[in-house]
Amino acid sequence: MLAKREIFEEHHDMFRESVKKFIQKHVAPYHDQWDKKGIVSRDFWLEAGAAGILCPDVPSKYGGADGDFRHNIIVVEELMKVGATGPGVSVHSDIVIPYIMNYGTEEQKKSWLPGMCEGRLIGAIAMTEPGTGSDLQSVKTTADITDNEVILNGQKTFITNGQNADLIIVVAKTDPKQGAKGTSLIMCEGDREGFKRGRNLDKVGLKAQDTSELFFDNVHVPKFNIIGEKGRGFYQLMEELPQERLAIAVSAVAACEAALEWTIDYVNERNVFGKKIAEFQNTKFKLAELKTEVNVAQIYIDDCIKKHLNKNFDAADGAMAKLWTTELQCKLVDTCVQLHGGYGYMREYPIARAWEDARVQRIYGGTNEIMKEIISRTLNK
Ligand SMILES: Cc1cc2nc3c(=O)[nH]c(=O)nc-3n(C[C@H](O)[C@H](O)[C@H](O)COP(=O)(O)OP(=O)(O)OC[C@H]3O[C@@H](n4cnc5c(N)ncnc54)[C@H](O)[C@@H]3O)c2cc1C
Repeated sequence: MLAKREIFEEHHDMFRESVKKFIQKHVAPYHDQWDKKGIVSRDFWLEAGAAGILCPDVPSKYGGADGDFRHNIIVVEELMKVGATGPGVSVHSDIVIPYIMNYGTEEQKKSWLPGMCEGRLIGAIAMTEPGTGSDLQSVKTTADITDNEVILNGQKTFITNGQNADLIIVVAKTDPKQGAKGTSLIMCEGDREGFKRGRNLDKVGLKAQDTSELFFDNVHVPKFNIIGEKGRGFYQLMEELPQERLAIAVSAVAACEAALEWTIDYVNERNVFGKKIAEFQNTKFKLAELKTEVNVAQIYIDDCIKKHLNKNFDAADGAMAKLWTTELQCKLVDTCVQLHGGYGYMREYPIARAWEDARVQRIYGGTNEIMKEIISRTLNK
């Protein structure tokens, strides 16, 4: 529907076609089941791994496809275009993997990446705790480093892929007195003694995605599992969060595009007062406004992707991208629900689910208020 996007090359277009086919065969027919169960099947992860759509930007020597971030976002976009918000692929590929790629040792990469590319090992990142989300420096989970191991104690919540995860990056304090400087990232395998998964949380939307509480009760992991330097965890998070926020922004724009298409189809089918809803001036004007905004968003986000590929995308850029696109997404899906009338409130219509799914985009990955804080720091003279 939108103009051809210049950021992609021919091989990306081919990859997109294969992702679309994969989704038609391995995602669309099962998404309702996952929605009812509150979790995506492990078969999906293995099939996605076999199809090369997990972590496509990882080098082939670690099991990836030697792609780039554009391959990753193609997966995000195509899932959103069919309303498939269940698979937590973006957390796995776009958020967890970079910590291993950018800060992991060669041995850590060899241990973890091939399984993650195959879908045998599912990734999660555990920052948020019951007592702290926005204020990451205040995490209470501790990681005591002894001569040859690390002992984790604490509790996390709202963790995406939490039920399925095999590898969880835990944000923990290695030196609680040091604040941000005492924070480290520790990998915890899902089968460690003392590690327990809590409830699969009952959410307003993203029904097919597992989101969990996690508990760490004297969990011993080897020192091998420290990702990057001890005490550098907060810095590593700040370095990687812009990509996380860009991935959320990409998903927001793709969700907008899908919602708009479903709505255009709907208003052209349904008759009210003897004419199509599409013929009312209100409908035409609303859709014209939304289409314009989605176009603007797409061009803006493609520019962000270009900057990110050129390693020129900073914290404020990530915050602006997430802020603007997720606010647009929530506004747009709400208008689209309205244009569907009562059917827009029925979960059998994709627009109703898109509306449920949209709301959290303004909350996770850092709330939009925190995005404004980050942006405002660049305005100080
Ligand atoms: C579905 C879902 C999936 C998630 N997945 C993950 C995951 O995989 N891993 C993970 O670690 N976390 C995850 N989260 C957690 C998410 O990142 C946090 O919920 C979010 O960062 C907000 O933290 P909080 O919930 O503690 O809210 P709080 O920090 O308590 O914020 C409450 C309100 O106060 C506002 N506020 C806070 N500080 C400021 C400030 N300085 N200025 C102005 N306003 C402020 C916030 O904007 C918000 O409106 C997920 C959450 C959800 C709902």
